[in-house]
Amino acid sequence: LRILLVGKGAREHSLAWKLAQSPSVEHIYVVPGNGGTAGMKKVTNVTTATEDDFPSLVNFAKEHGVGLVVAGPDDAVVNGIAGYFEDAAIPCFAPSKKAAEVEGSKAYSKAFMEKYNIPTASYKAFDNYDDAKAYLESVDCSQIVLKVDGLAAGKGVVLPSNEAEAHEALISMMIESKFGSSGQSVVIEELLDGDEISILTFADGTGAFKSLPPGQDHKRILEGNKGPNTGGMGVYAPLAFLTSDDLRTIDQDIIKPTLDGLRAEGKAPAMPTSHILTLLVGRPFAGMLFTGVMMTSKGPKVLEYNARFGDPETQTMMMLLAPECDLAAVLMACSTKKLENVADRISVRPGFACNVVVAAGGYPESYRKGDVISLGECPSGIEIFHAGTERIANGELVTSGGRVLSVAAHGPTLEKAVSLAYEGVKHIQFKDKTYRKDIGAR
Ligand code: ATP
Repeated sequence: LRILLVGKGAREHSLAWKLAQSPSVEHIYVVPGNGGTAGMKKVTNVTTATEDDFPSLVNFAKEHGVGLVVAGPDDAVVNGIAGYFEDAAIPCFAPSKKAAEVEGSKAYSKAFMEKYNIPTASYKAFDNYDDAKAYLESVDCSQIVLKVDGLAAGKGVVLPSNEAEAHEALISMMIESKFGSSGQSVVIEELLDGDEISILTFADGTGAFKSLPPGQDHKRILEGNKGPNTGGMGVYAPLAFLTSDDLRTIDQDIIKPTLDGLRAEGKAPAMPTSHILTLLVGRPFAGMLFTGVMMTSKGPKVLEYNARFGDPETQTMMMLLAPECDLAAVLMACSTKKLENVADRISVRPGFACNVVVAAGGYPESYRKGDVISLGECPSGIEIFHAGTERIANGELVTSGGRVLSVAAHGPTLEKAVSLAYEGVKHIQFKDKTYRKDIGAR
């Protein structure tokens, strides 16, 4: 099997690492890949096709006998990569553009959750600044969250601590258009309190699904959950504070109604289910459903959906999957409506996994690029997944993004997994490197 993997983050590096272990995988082409995928066996970074130019990806796939496409980034998924490969009859692990709207529009996903009784924070959606401003004047601004409707790389969410901050955020979203068209409409929702968890669920669009053990990300840049939100600074899994009842409730009250609801979307109840009509209606979700959940005192509530592998959750999950779990077979089954055949083979190792993100100084605000990275030899059991790295002409590895590397490890206990990952961090040197020292500490 030849695979075309789209993306350039640590998420894609970890996917390539796990996929390359599948016996059925002959070769993996990564578009565009990064400094880490560049050096891997069975893997080639591709520069003759472009990440967001889907026809060029289809041509590349046809020319190189690709049998499975795996889409990493939200942009590719939300902009409809799946449809291009459906037309080309090449299996593609990504939901359709319509199904991906649960990630692409917060206003849509909130309305969807309300319609299907999926527990979430109460909310109001606005596409007019004056109405949103008047609403802010009527509520306690320290108890709300403002979100731009569209994609904003994790930066379009503000948790104000007072009225002034709330108004400032609203102005930057709706008047100053800091997030471009993504901020033309906003969602203002109730602030939820509790432990935040991430659930990654394989789905094939038929209603079959399989969730991986939940993980916990650390969203803020500073220890103790302080400072601005980032794309995520580190994840550990599984979570000892969740009971098996919690896991059942999440699957039954959140994941199942979400996937059933998406299949039902747009279908009128009395409509005859002829073949053509079932093709035209519904938003069956096939791919990776990422659900961000807050464990509140009133039970789990959905914070957000993503329609693709999470980053940095994926790096931890790839370490947690059992060595015998054939990821390529799982992704192929999800892309061809056959998850039921392999669901039992999605197995995890005993113990714990984690990853610690090493970022450039200044991230998530402005940061420098081009600093030389030195990577020492790590003890076995530690994997360094690259994100913002690039190999320049003289062969040196340099920083090229905010989140630079992700150090992942597995261990029999959480303490062991975490200490191994931090051991790996010590082997990375570049100017002003920054990372959280409390991943998994809570
Ligand atoms: P991501 O990068 O995860 O895709 P996003 O831009 O889609 O982020 P959300 O996940 O909706 O945005 O929110 C980002 C973070 O803000 C959440 O992970 C959570 O920590 C916090 N957050 C969002 N909504 C709420 C809420 N209602 N109550 C408390 N915290 C919230």
